Amino acid sequence: MIIDVHTHIMSPEIAAAKTVYLARDRWFDECYRDPKARFATAESLVASMHTARITRAVVTGFAFADPGLCAASNDYIIEAVRRFPDRLIGLAAVQPNGGDAAVYELERCLKAGLSGVGELLPDGQDFDPASRETMLPLATALQKYGAPLMIHTSEPVGHLYPGKGKTWPPKILELATNFPELKIIAAHWGGGLPFYELMPEVRLALANLYYDTAATTYLYDFRVFRAAALASGVSKILFATDYPLLKQDRLVRRIRGEAGLSPEELDLIMGQNAALLFNLTGPETNI
Ligand SMILES: [Zn+2]
Repeated sequence: MIIDVHTHIMSPEIAAAKTVYLARDRWFDECYRDPKARFATAESLVASMHTARITRAVVTGFAFADPGLCAASNDYIIEAVRRFPDRLIGLAAVQPNGGDAAVYELERCLKAGLSGVGELLPDGQDFDPASRETMLPLATALQKYGAPLMIHTSEPVGHLYPGKGKTWPPKILELATNFPELKIIAAHWGGGLPFYELMPEVRLALANLYYDTAATTYLYDFRVFRAAALASGVSKILFATDYPLLKQDRLVRRIRGEAGLSPEELDLIMGQNAALLFNLTGPETNI
């Protein structure tokens, strides 16, 4: 069973009106201004999953700064999960600065079949994940439902790229420290946070935090898999592509061939860890 925990799809309406949305959201412009930046639909994602023999994908839209645009993005995720209930697990985009309004949107989306929140973009949505006050309503609700929060993270070092931002490891550590029961998926290898799990107090604070491998090819040498498995433990690493940014079949092949993982480690990273986190039980979907 392979589960890709970080993919993005966009409604055809938003994709068709790209220039309008570029003007309406600074971070959307940062991420999609490049004419080569791709959008995917639910159909193209499911077709790609079929090719790559991926059982399920966690699907997100775009976390706009404006909560109204988040809701529009969420409507398409809800529709996608309804159309492909065996294949897609949906996350809702919300604006944490909205406090109770963010909780209201989360609850609307959970009732409609989504499974958590993500991929939140602190740099684009202009909220501080390290602020206990800002995050309290949303984190409390997520903990109540046992639903995870996926958040973009990036490296305080290295090359720049569109959408990198400054959601660095200290902010994520602070978020996890403020809400120890909250299940967090720190995207893009947590910006290097796994290394600090070699410090006992950091490891303790991050007991409910996971790392996804989204966009790994653009960020790290494939030895990152071994290094992170050593530092944080293999049970915290979740396979992810950031599709359509990376091709799913190619990344699956490369991880199998180049990451230096044992068959048992591969099973955990490629699907078993995510199945536990998202409470996926019952028979595996055969594809
Ligand atoms: Zn991201």
